[in-house]
Amino acid sequence: MKHTYRLIVEGNSEEDAIWIPAFELAGVEDGPNLLILAGVHGDEYEGIETILRLFSALRLEDLRGNLLMIPCANPYAYRGGTRVSPDDGVNLARAFPGKQMGTVTEKLAYELHHRMIAKADFLLDLHSGGTHYAVASLVGYYHEEGSAFSHRCREAAEAFGALLLWAHDEIAPGRTVSSAQALGIPWLYTEAYGGRRVRQEDARMFYDGIFRLMNHLEMLDDPLEWPVGKPVIERKTIYSDGNFDHSATAEEDGFFVPAISLESEVRQGDLIGTIYGLDGSERQRVTAGSDGFLVMILGIPVVRKGDPVYLLASEMNG
Ligand SMILES: [Zn+2]
Repeated sequence: MKHTYRLIVEGNSEEDAIWIPAFELAGVEDGPNLLILAGVHGDEYEGIETILRLFSALRLEDLRGNLLMIPCANPYAYRGGTRVSPDDGVNLARAFPGKQMGTVTEKLAYELHHRMIAKADFLLDLHSGGTHYAVASLVGYYHEEGSAFSHRCREAAEAFGALLLWAHDEIAPGRTVSSAQALGIPWLYTEAYGGRRVRQEDARMFYDGIFRLMNHLEMLDDPLEWPVGKPVIERKTIYSDGNFDHSATAEEDGFFVPAISLESEVRQGDLIGTIYGLDGSERQRVTAGSDGFLVMILGIPVVRKGDPVYLLASEMNG
């Protein structure tokens, strides 16, 4: 069975009812249920493109188990081309497991949690930098020494084949992945450069990574038919809670000129960039608050006081 259907989320009135496209491929042999989400943030397009390509490429006889893909998990934000839903100002990635009687986005989270995530054996949530952030291309996973659950997430992260892995020992509540974790469902998510344009290298990383993940989960009938075998050379792991809400923020309005590039290693006090006024004045020298690896930097030069400017993670061995 390869079909599309629509998950209905009731809005606050009949006219608000919203339809979410879902692609389901029920393989001819038994296997795990893999759920892939994209478009949780409505201005991140890499995952949407990846799911459309996957749905076009895959045939049922290729699969063991079930592949369920939601190309656009937040139609409100997608419609607005925004990170959060313009209808209620809620960030879907902070709204899980949702509220049955909440705002439209909280209802959306409730439906996705109960009808999609809760039935999965593995969750992959595809994100990127979107409009505002430039983010290193990576996969994020749950890290806890000695935990069998964490081990399953790490193995899947390695299988995905990204050059950069982001280990999180803490997961902010309200995310798809924290929802999955509360149910004991292993998960991964991706990040990529963003900027409302899909870079070919990011599209390739997502697409190939999903085949490698499916191969790892033993979901491919004939793995050699797919891009599963590319070796990863010099993988790097970084470490922090991964919450963009904890980014260093601008103290002034202005025009941000970065001094270093994404994925740089910095020392505390190093210059990250300068916020200028259009009169040429230097309004703020943004410096590193600690040593670390630059995993996110502001992607749009026009900055307002309070906007996230950068996020550092620590490097770890292994
Ligand atoms: Zn996102």
